[in-house]
Amino acid sequence: MSSPLATGLRTHACGLLTAKDEGTSVKLAGWVHSRRDHGGLYFFDLRDRTGLVQVVVSPDDAQTFSAAGSLGAEFVVGVEGTVGRRPKGTENPKLPTGEVEVRAQSIKVLNSSKTLPFELDEHSNVSEETRLKYRFLDLRRARMRDNLIARHKVSQVVRRELDAMGFLEIETPILTKATPEGARDYLVPARLSPGLFYALPQSPQIFKQILMAAGMERYFQLARAFRDEDLRSDRQPEHTQIDLEMSFVEEKDVHAAVERFMKAVFKEVMGVDIPTPFARIEYDECMRRYGSDKPDLRYDLEIIDLTDVFRNTQFKVFGEAVKSGGVIAGLTVNGSGVSRSHIDRLTQLLKDHGAKGLPWIRWRGATEEPESPIAKFFSPDEIKSLKTRVGAKPGEITFFSLGAAYAASAYLGVLRKEAIGNNELAKLVGLTRNKEWSFHWVVHFPLLEWEPEEKRWTFTHNPFTAPLESELPKLDTDPGNIASHQYDLVLNGVELASGSIRNHRGEVQRKILSLMGFSAEEQEAQFGLLLRALEFGAPPHGGAALGLDRLIAILRGEDSIREVIAFPKTAKGTCPLSEAPSPVKEKQLEELHIKLNLPPLKPDSSGRP
Ligand code: ASP
Repeated sequence: MSSPLATGLRTHACGLLTAKDEGTSVKLAGWVHSRRDHGGLYFFDLRDRTGLVQVVVSPDDAQTFSAAGSLGAEFVVGVEGTVGRRPKGTENPKLPTGEVEVRAQSIKVLNSSKTLPFELDEHSNVSEETRLKYRFLDLRRARMRDNLIARHKVSQVVRRELDAMGFLEIETPILTKATPEGARDYLVPARLSPGLFYALPQSPQIFKQILMAAGMERYFQLARAFRDEDLRSDRQPEHTQIDLEMSFVEEKDVHAAVERFMKAVFKEVMGVDIPTPFARIEYDECMRRYGSDKPDLRYDLEIIDLTDVFRNTQFKVFGEAVKSGGVIAGLTVNGSGVSRSHIDRLTQLLKDHGAKGLPWIRWRGATEEPESPIAKFFSPDEIKSLKTRVGAKPGEITFFSLGAAYAASAYLGVLRKEAIGNNELAKLVGLTRNKEWSFHWVVHFPLLEWEPEEKRWTFTHNPFTAPLESELPKLDTDPGNIASHQYDLVLNGVELASGSIRNHRGEVQRKILSLMGFSAEEQEAQFGLLLRALEFGAPPHGGAALGLDRLIAILRGEDSIREVIAFPKTAKGTCPLSEAPSPVKEKQLEELHIKLNLPPLKPDSSGRP
């Protein structure tokens, strides 16, 4: 098939040739993928972005034959020839072009290649540093190419769907002022304003809200966001968000917009129909039932509240927890294969998360006593009602957690995650997955949380989130208990998007900022631009941002977002390809009036401070 990639140097794309092209004269161009000599013929696979096709060179034309003989791996060549069917028995059903071969009439070397630092096949074991240093080679691998193609497709589908819904794609500045998303800013010195700095945006948040004040009504951007966070294995200093904001909306309108493009993405990129609208779970319910604000709901496993079973218990530890207003939560899993040493390991895991311990009870047949280090403290009635409440079957284990409501369930949330994770316990308890893709919105997050170190309230997600209208009086009376219009979109246990309905009235926004400890001057200095916009007739508005890198990684089954970013940074925030970050010339620093004051180099240091 001729290709949209046809140019003066080629008529067809390698990977698209099929038996239908038999007899066609083609001009191809690409990379020598692999070469084999067989019984007086040369064979090589020629590769371009679309895939591979086998080229056969016979000795009939001495010049072409000798050119083929000199080809090395990753040489770039132009091949003219005729498409023919491969002889019977030599077809390769694994290759889309496996029925055909191109019989070369001429071969032109367009460029040679040095010996490769690593094999380009999918399985070769190469360090990340080397892969990133030679990213141009790494990206030639089919998997990486397909990751970038998927990324492109997703972006196109999102753009098309958002356009169809009346969104305008508008760019916001990269050189800007700090926007608080809770991370450290990257700073850029402003040469023309000595001593002053731009910040790279942690998100386009303030500008997108200002665009709503400006009457744009629906904005989106595939926006780069920069967050200078401490090293974590899968963090990137810059990431891409599908960022959107809408005017005159309620929560469900924003959700519907996201659902529409997600549905189209799954259909067109994965061939999967995902049902919409996505389920919505109240934050409170989500924490109680799953012990997490981003539970993986492909599995049913649920935490249950057992407090009332133990309301009058003589067992001191449980009794005291209940009396002090706490809850007793339970999680029941199939425990036939779970040994005491597994339980010890789980106990340690929870202790590492701050739990005091992990009480448990293993159920047996109807007439048998359950096995448990604590069951002796329970009354027969308690055991009976417990058994009924958890619907226990022989061999199942109920694990307990006690404490303040969310804390108790959060420990079991850790256990739940273990039980459905990719680990030994998960294999033992053998839960069945109900579906492949599980989307849900978690809605009505608390507006504020207490920051014990700084002794002030802080935002749980975003300082511009609006409280529910009915919760407004609590700003004065009970700030820690305000339900907000903040929502997250969770896919298979991963927080994929986050957003909210915003404060569109300046006075409410000011009040919340004051609660978070911002003085009037600080509010002006940090948020003045937004506050002013809100005070000149900003419409009600809300939006969301969805992590594009994360989405592509999930779609492509990649563990790390580095696999779906063309030029990612290492976990240390460096780029082995460009060697960024790098020193600058003294003169550049002088122009910026910057003097370095570096800490002394550590003896084992690589030269970087
Ligand atoms: N600005 C938020 C973020 O980047 C998302 C949003 O609320 O729209 O996480």
